[in-house]
Amino acid sequence: MSFKKFQLNEKVLAGVTAAGYKKPTPIQDQSIAHIMDGRDVMGLAETGTGKTAAFVLPILQRLMQGQRGRIRALIIAPTRELSEQTHEAILQLGLKTKLSSATIYGGVSVVNQINKLRSRVDIVSACPGRLLDHIGRGTIDLSSVEVLVLDEADHMFDMGFLPEVRKIVKHLPAHRQTLLFSATMPSEIRSLANDLLSDPVNIQIGNSAPVMTVSHKFYPVQTEQKTALLKDILKKTDTQSVLVFTRTKSRAKSLAEQLNRGGHNATSLHGNLTQQKRKQSLDGFRDGRFEVMVATDIAARGIDVSRISHVINYDMPSTAEAYTHRIGRTGRATKTGDAFTFITGQDAELLRSLKKLLGDKWQYQNVDGLTVSPSVCESMGTRAGQLTRPGGNGRKLFSSRTPSARRPQGRSFKDADRIFWSPRAQQAV
Ligand code: AMP
Repeated sequence: MSFKKFQLNEKVLAGVTAAGYKKPTPIQDQSIAHIMDGRDVMGLAETGTGKTAAFVLPILQRLMQGQRGRIRALIIAPTRELSEQTHEAILQLGLKTKLSSATIYGGVSVVNQINKLRSRVDIVSACPGRLLDHIGRGTIDLSSVEVLVLDEADHMFDMGFLPEVRKIVKHLPAHRQTLLFSATMPSEIRSLANDLLSDPVNIQIGNSAPVMTVSHKFYPVQTEQKTALLKDILKKTDTQSVLVFTRTKSRAKSLAEQLNRGGHNATSLHGNLTQQKRKQSLDGFRDGRFEVMVATDIAARGIDVSRISHVINYDMPSTAEAYTHRIGRTGRATKTGDAFTFITGQDAELLRSLKKLLGDKWQYQNVDGLTVSPSVCESMGTRAGQLTRPGGNGRKLFSSRTPSARRPQGRSFKDADRIFWSPRAQQAV
């Protein structure tokens, strides 16, 4: 079934054709008509499923009617990269519409943003912090917003942005359409949705499991052999663009440097870089100048590089959800991709969760002289009742016998771990 069934304005449809979309993805199929009807939508969708176009197309359609030059659609996202990507999707799909789109995020000149906002803007893609800054300065007028989109809401929660989001919403007209997209549905997001959405249509795509066009291979390895294993894989595997994840900013930087010294064209993407350097890395990775990009989770969140053939978890992610997000960078839309994960003796806990999550879709991979027996990784990790940081330095978080009252905020181990290692707490990204 083609996009014609939505009876989109011909200028909007022209953007769909220019983007090369032949038929709607499931999330688009299930949500576009409802959004065009003005309904609130809560979309539980995997990464890479085409959810950006699912909300951008109905927004463009709505904005073809009515006055131009006032902010009528506001999209809030957790990272600059995601805001930038949404902005680019608006430019691509809205090519013929003459609607104007702007981005608002930190790390770049506020003056340029103010100038852009003073000119006529119809759609704004923003990160919460800088948006609140503009609200405080009185440099943005949100009184005409008709559609609010909260994208990757679970990640905004992980980053501690929900209080900011609630503050921003107070500055928007009460009568509006609200769309919320999230890959997972923690209770905090459910309660945000209850507060902000009115009689929403609930759409769930794929039960938030990792993209199934991806194959999942696990390499049991000693920590000190990881770099040699990575180099071996890069040498022997037929790859296009490879995204490598590390846990810390410094490791992302040093690993990219090591790969460069080893003859690879590698770059890094992490929170210590200026916005300009981040853009250079990302643009170079996108257009193929860099074959490898080594990144931390936050920096890589929302990256849409269609040519990524392999995601390599040099360091294990901290949660199964983070795994889903990482490997969502490959196998986007209908393409296939491979996810390789290095596991050490400290990753046993998470390995068990991932095996459960992936069912029969995963396998161990052996490389002579570089990998170790899987049993080494399966049997370790929670020695003497201690929880250790997955993939990390074995630092003790708290003992399993610690009374719940003394665990951070009295939460379960899983939640506490998530908070302890949250990007904001750790500044690890
Ligand atoms: P998203 O989940 O919105 O980040 O989209 C993931 C990728 O799928 C992007 O590269 C989109 O350009 C692409 N995409 C979105 N909708 C379609 C479609 N209907 N057909 C083919 N590709 C699509």
